[in-house]
Amino acid sequence: MSTSTPSLATSEGTLFVVAAPSGAGKSTLVNALLEREPAISLSISHTTRPPRPGELYGRHYYFVERVAFEREVAEGIFLEHAEVHGNLYGTSRTTVSELLEQGRDVLLEIDWQGARQIRQSKPDCVSVFILPPSRAELERRLRGRGSDSAEVIARRLHNSREEIAHAHEFDYVIVNDRFEDALADLQAIVHAVRLRTSLQWQRHEALIAELLA
Ligand code: 5GP
Repeated sequence: MSTSTPSLATSEGTLFVVAAPSGAGKSTLVNALLEREPAISLSISHTTRPPRPGELYGRHYYFVERVAFEREVAEGIFLEHAEVHGNLYGTSRTTVSELLEQGRDVLLEIDWQGARQIRQSKPDCVSVFILPPSRAELERRLRGRGSDSAEVIARRLHNSREEIAHAHEFDYVIVNDRFEDALADLQAIVHAVRLRTSLQWQRHEALIAELLA
């Protein structure tokens, strides 16, 4: 008996969304993940925040004036945007969709408000929240960064409660206590997503056809 192969094919890449309170170590984790997983592209956001020492236009962010950002919001160029710690941040719609259409996985490092907007427009995104191991450690990491003023640190610490209050909305939660463990957890999520039936079905189309012949 010959059984036809059901089509579960999807050629789009996966959209990963990673959020965390400031100081949880999200960027370090994400950068390490991207080194290990070169098939994932990081989306570079637009922001009205001034660059920190060493930050480069187009590499870390597209740094823009508030008026320019607001004009871009009105033009609908953002897939999501939000005000975080008093600055505006947004993700370019075309960059993300072009990469996804090419079959690339894309990672957004954004806050809970942006993650909520993404879940609405792209419900098959995979969202991950990074928690610090304690409040004291969060504070220590924020102060240790050395590039933010006392006022900025105090505001970010204060805002961390609101960010963490939304952690339950995410698909996965990782506690970043030991960096290597947290990185392995993040990689495990990426690997599990790539083993989803919809993707495996497409990848192993010939095998499945042969096994069902
Ligand atoms: P930072 O100023 O420390 O680079 O980022 C501050 C916060 O803004 C972080 O929680 C970061 O994830 C978030 N953020 C960065 N880019 C975007 C973005 O494009 N959209 C949203 N909604 N949040 C962002």
